[in-house]
Amino acid sequence: MLTNMHIAVIGGDARQLEVIRKLIELDAKVSLIGFDQLDHGFAGANKEQVSEGLFQELDAIILPVAGTNPKGEVDTIFSNEKVILTQGLIEKTPKHAVVYSGISNDYLNQITVNRKLVKILERDDVAIYNSIPTVEGTIMMVIQHTDYTIHGSTVAVLGLGRTGMSVARAFAGLGAKVRVGARRSEHIARISEMGLTPFYMHEIEEVMKDVDICINTIPHLVVTAKVISRMPSHALIVDLASRPGGTDFRYAEKRGIKAILAPGLPGVVAPKTAGKILAGVLTQLLGEEWKAREEKE
Ligand code: NAP
Repeated sequence: MLTNMHIAVIGGDARQLEVIRKLIELDAKVSLIGFDQLDHGFAGANKEQVSEGLFQELDAIILPVAGTNPKGEVDTIFSNEKVILTQGLIEKTPKHAVVYSGISNDYLNQITVNRKLVKILERDDVAIYNSIPTVEGTIMMVIQHTDYTIHGSTVAVLGLGRTGMSVARAFAGLGAKVRVGARRSEHIARISEMGLTPFYMHEIEEVMKDVDICINTIPHLVVTAKVISRMPSHALIVDLASRPGGTDFRYAEKRGIKAILAPGLPGVVAPKTAGKILAGVLTQLLGEEWKAREEKE
């Protein structure tokens, strides 16, 4: 239980509703900032405005998956008001207060320099759970943007990380001929073990000559103009890697190859599941933090 733990949920999309629900269930004291237009009446939470007085009382702050933008603005889809997080506000919180965000950037790192910042999307468990709705969203994108079946198509998946592995397995399960690109020999071995066709990333230009679909998960420019120039004109590129993706979109457009950057698929195709994934991990972390604090006092 999180009884007496004061937590502010600041901004975010439908995924945060699952987080709020779970915090209330665990008896936390919940303050909602950036939710003034939310119809759902969470009886156990208070809608509030940013104020120094509130920040002085907080044990934890939960930010949206994206954290803040480089100017400190927090995305608030349930409010028209601009919420800006500053170092001054963060430093009003008690020293033990923890800030939870999906990812971070230089701005957020800087303003939380004197507090603990937890980036939950960096955790393996969250990334692996998140790969499930990501795969479903990827399949949806591919179906929407092709006039041929996945079954029987030649699919190149770039990267055998937490997302790439799930994507490769799912497309193979749908009957695609899946090739997976990696740079480490242990990944090449794993791809073979999975019954898929491995290739080293330095071989990518050759491999792309007859692919129907390319799904990139590598957050670096790997689908270069040279790579795209080798691809058949009907090929589709779906780039899952974080912005700006790993594709030369300018050149793809010039060549007439459809290339789509598809960020945030879990929040798009399955906000409830994605929210439950975040809520489960966040409440576990908050519980550990709260227990450690109670033991200290
Ligand atoms: P990950 O587990 O770190 O996997 C990334 C993979 O990229 C690793 O296999 C890594 O190989 C490889 N890689 C990195 N740099 C490389 C390079 N220069 N050349 C070749 N391979 C390279 O990350 P993840 O959790 O799978 O996420 C992958 C990307 O997808 C991230 O950008 C993440 O933000 C994004 N993502 C997007 C969505 C969405 O909805 N669009 C959902 C989830 C994740 P090594 O091990 O050799 O470094």
